[in-house]
Amino acid sequence: MDFEFPGEDHPRRQAIRAWFAANPAPTAPQLAEAGYVVPHWPAPWGLGADAELQMLVDEEMKRAGVVPPRNPVAINNCAQSLLTHGTEAQRERFLPAALSGEATWCMLFSEPSGGSDLGALRTTARRDGDHYVVKGHKIWTSLAHVAKVGVLVARTDPDAPKHQGLSEFLIDMDTPGITVRPIIDMSGSENEYNEVFFDDVRVPVDRLLGKEGEGWALAMTQLQTERVALSKPGAIWGSGPSARELVEGLIATGGLEDAAQRDEAAKLYVEGEILRLLAYRALSDRMNAKPPGPQGAIRKMLAAPHGQRVVDLAKRSQGPRGLLVGEQAFDNGRGDGGPFGDWDYAFWFNPAVTLGVGTQEILKNVVAERMLGLPREPDPTARTPFSALAGQLRRAAE
Ligand SMILES: Cc1cc2nc3c(=O)[nH]c(=O)nc-3n(C[C@H](O)[C@H](O)[C@H](O)COP(=O)(O)OP(=O)(O)OC[C@H]3O[C@@H](n4cnc5c(N)ncnc54)[C@H](O)[C@@H]3O)c2cc1C
Repeated sequence: MDFEFPGEDHPRRQAIRAWFAANPAPTAPQLAEAGYVVPHWPAPWGLGADAELQMLVDEEMKRAGVVPPRNPVAINNCAQSLLTHGTEAQRERFLPAALSGEATWCMLFSEPSGGSDLGALRTTARRDGDHYVVKGHKIWTSLAHVAKVGVLVARTDPDAPKHQGLSEFLIDMDTPGITVRPIIDMSGSENEYNEVFFDDVRVPVDRLLGKEGEGWALAMTQLQTERVALSKPGAIWGSGPSARELVEGLIATGGLEDAAQRDEAAKLYVEGEILRLLAYRALSDRMNAKPPGPQGAIRKMLAAPHGQRVVDLAKRSQGPRGLLVGEQAFDNGRGDGGPFGDWDYAFWFNPAVTLGVGTQEILKNVVAERMLGLPREPDPTARTPFSALAGQLRRAAE
C-alpha cells in the first residue's frame, strides 16, 4: 500500500464538509448535481475525482448523515458504459434520472439455461425497420419489479459465434410485452429477484448501446466493476454486518465466554481485517493509477464466504431465539440500516452471494487462468456459429 489518509484539516476535506454544512439535507438531484453520487466520473456527471477525493466524499457524506441515492446497477455497473459507448442523446436521456435514483435500473443478463455461460444466452433481438423485436426469458433479475430501465443483453446475430452475436440495449421496463414475475427466496423477501419475460417487445434502434455485436465486451466490463464494488468485508456484498460488529456484539452479550465461539470469532475478526487491507490495496492501486485487474475476483471469492461465516456465527450465538422470525442477534445500531442492517435477513440472504456476479467456481477459473497462468478452460462451442450449436451438441451427445 502506498497512500496516506487525508487528515481532518485537509483542504479537500474541508471543502466537502463546507458543502454539507451549507446543504444539511440535500435532495438526491442536488447530490447528483454536485457530483457527489459518482465523484470519479467526469463533469458534468461527476467531479473527475481521484480515489482520494472519492474516499473523502464517502466519509464526509457519512459524517453528515446523508445517504446517497441507491441505484446499484446504474451507479456501480452499467451507466458508466454510457460515458464510453453511449450517444450524447442516451447520456442526456438516462443519466440524470439514474444518478438521482429516480429511475432504478436492472441488469437483464442471466437466463434459465445458465448464468455462468452468459455467451450462450438465447434471448433474441431481431431488427425490424427502426426497431428491434425482443423475444426470450431472463431470470434472477434483481430489482426488475421496481426498475424503470433495464440493461438487456440479447442475441442480434444467431449466425455469429456465441460471444460475437450479442448486443446490449437500454429498455423501458414498461414497454408492452414485458412481464415481471417476482421470485420469493428463502429469506421470505420478494424484493430481490425476478423472472422477466419478453414477448415480441419492440425496442427502438436508438436504444442500442454501442454497436451491434459489442454486447459481450460491455457486459464483461460491467461485471468486472461489480466484483470490485462488492468485495468489502461483511455480509450482503460488504454492505451488511461485519466481523468487527460480530465481535462487538458477542462481547456485549457475553457470547465470548464460550471458548469455541471465542476461537471462531477471533478467526473471523482476523479474516475481516485481511479483507479490509486487501480493499485498501485496491484503493492504493487506484490512487497510483494502476488498472483494475482480475484481483477483484480473488477479493470477491474470499469476501463472500467470509460474510456467510459472520452471520452464521451470529445466528448460532442466539441459540433457540435465533429461530424466531426477525429476531436480531445484536442490538448494535444495525436495525436502522434497512435490509442491509438486519442480522436475521443477512443470514437468510447470504447463501446467495457466493453465486451472484460469478460463482466461486467461475471466479476460481478467472484466478487460475488470468493470475496463475494455468491453461484456459476449453470451450468447444466458442467458434461455432450459435445457430449451429444445437446440432453440434446433439451430435456430441450421440
Ligand atoms: C443475489 C443474486 C443476484 C443476482 N442478480 C442478477 C441480476 O440482477 N441480473 C442477472 O442477470 N443475474 C443475476 N443473478 C444471477 C447470477 O448472475 C447467476 O446466478 C450466476 O451467474 C450463476 O448462474 P446460474 O445460477 O445459472 O448457475 P449455472 O451457471 O447454471 O451454474 C451451476 C453450477 O455450475 C457451476 N459451473 C458453471 N460453469 C462452470 C465452469 N465453467 N466451471 C466450473 N463450474 C461451473 C457453477 O459454479 C454453479 O455451481 C443474481 C444471482 C444472485 C444469487
